[in-house]
Amino acid sequence: MLVFATETSCDETSVCVMENKSIVEHITFSQEIHKKHGGVVPELASRSHLEKIQIITNQLFYKRNIEPQKIDLFAATCGPGLIGSLLVGSTFTKSLAISSKKPFIPINHLEGHIHSTSFNNSIKYPSLILLLTGGHTQIYLMQNENHIELLGESVDDAIGEAFDKTAKLIGLPYPGGAEIEKQALNGDENKFILPKPLVKEKNFNFSFSGIKTHVSLLTKKNKIDKQFTKDLSASFQKNISEILIEKLERGLKRLDYFNKNIRSISIVGGVSNNKYIRNKIENFFINKNIEIYYPLKEMMADNAAMIAWACIKNYNEQKVDLFFKPQPRMSVITN
Ligand code: ZN
Repeated sequence: MLVFATETSCDETSVCVMENKSIVEHITFSQEIHKKHGGVVPELASRSHLEKIQIITNQLFYKRNIEPQKIDLFAATCGPGLIGSLLVGSTFTKSLAISSKKPFIPINHLEGHIHSTSFNNSIKYPSLILLLTGGHTQIYLMQNENHIELLGESVDDAIGEAFDKTAKLIGLPYPGGAEIEKQALNGDENKFILPKPLVKEKNFNFSFSGIKTHVSLLTKKNKIDKQFTKDLSASFQKNISEILIEKLERGLKRLDYFNKNIRSISIVGGVSNNKYIRNKIENFFINKNIEIYYPLKEMMADNAAMIAWACIKNYNEQKVDLFFKPQPRMSVITN
């Protein structure tokens, strides 16, 4: 089965051709235009998708000498995301499907992230999914590969947003995640004590906006020099990883109580690229009989390969829907 997929939910224009379980070609264009604004500007994102999607699709087909008529299924991210951006990718992909007389499958972006680790790992169920992106921070339970249940999520900022906002407050460029990780390497992680909202609560919800407020106060009380930036980056990263671990630990204890016996945890989304957080979580779970999985590097941040894979993995004829309207808010259907 040859699938062509597009992803345009935020600021990545990405196209992929996947054949069964192998990536034939995958091109992602990351929009640089938002850097000077310190965050994604929706109107600029849609315009940039419009400028790029045709060009990178032509490159993709040309590079591998693929005729669009040879594609069996066309898939596109249809939500959640920026509506203008979703419209560009989904309308473009639908038009290719119509001209090739092939089915169009709408894909939920979150399901793309959730299934991303099953591309390169054989998942042991029941499994937890820790979804960490710029737009979402969620924990899902998968009893088996067809059962997905949302256990909890951030009640305010997403984790990636917390990285970006903190970076901005301490004078680091957008996107903030990679910058904070780099600065933190030479900082003192015990220099600043930051709050851990909701960690003690008996649920799976997160809250990150209070950390940003605390960082803002610290920037007013301290001189923002190189050492401050390094120390604050390290303290922030440590705090975030402790929140994730504490939530996971409490969550697992509760699930054990309900005899769920979790056997693995998938850490997915752009923030799963953070080596410090990965190491901390891995060290915590070592010898605890729980496997930790990550997606392939090219499937961590927003990308079309995970959309193609979600399409292949869950394909059935009932999912074909050329008239599906993109939705800025869209949750994962719980089975
Ligand atoms: Zn995403």
